[in-house]
Amino acid sequence: MFHCFKIGTMDATIVSDGPLTLPPAPRIFKGPTDDALNAALVHAGQPTDRIRAEQNCLLLETAGRKILFDNGLGSEKLYGTESGRLLESLAEAGIDPAAIDALVLTHGHSDHCWGTMGADGRPNFPNATIYLSQAELEFWESDPPSERFERSVAGVARHLLPLRDRIVFVRDGAEFLPGVQACLTPGHTPGHMAYLFAGNWCLTGDVAFHDPLSYTFPEAHSVFDTDREQGVATRKRLLARLADERIAVIGYHQPWPGLGRVERANGTFRFLTGP
Ligand SMILES: [Zn+2]
Repeated sequence: MFHCFKIGTMDATIVSDGPLTLPPAPRIFKGPTDDALNAALVHAGQPTDRIRAEQNCLLLETAGRKILFDNGLGSEKLYGTESGRLLESLAEAGIDPAAIDALVLTHGHSDHCWGTMGADGRPNFPNATIYLSQAELEFWESDPPSERFERSVAGVARHLLPLRDRIVFVRDGAEFLPGVQACLTPGHTPGHMAYLFAGNWCLTGDVAFHDPLSYTFPEAHSVFDTDREQGVATRKRLLARLADERIAVIGYHQPWPGLGRVERANGTFRFLTGP
């Protein structure tokens, strides 16, 4: 599945890795009551027995380069059977994985970088330079001593460390590829990066990963955050900026294809679907 659009003069395509099925909201979001979480889902016309999260990967074509942002869960079926379709979606869009020059990662969680290697342990994007923040790679590489990090540590070891000589670190604020600027947004993970394009589009990664819950309850922690307080502060700061500067959003986990805008709404926020 793919969706073509424009970011300024750049050709952009959302290519799907397929949706994830996550546990019910109260097992993911902490702070608001179960009733408040479920009421927000019902109001948005969504089920309460599970969370459905898309995986909207962005492919950008600029200055003769093909740049893929995040690459889904790969061949593992950690969250239901519908994920792992990225290569199929790229084929549908007429993109050869070998033609991808750059793989840019928001962070090191399974659903963002486990498409780097195929099930056979060979790179899915054999000619791509990999970009992510140094803080992100070093955190997972350091084998942080907590059970809840084990899976990501193993994933980074399997998908990124064998390609370490192809990794380039991106710095906060740097325009490291033409028209692509890094924006350090820590909390969900220590070196999480959002990316800004042409100054008026933002790929937000997992800073606010669920519509409506991350917007209606920006102060809610998520069980996936490595630093929950920092995650809340980062989310509030980024959402305020996106709303106030009218920056369009590419939402990785939001309903297909994840494009929209953020608006302030009675002290919290709202995501408006559409270009
Ligand atoms: Zn995610």
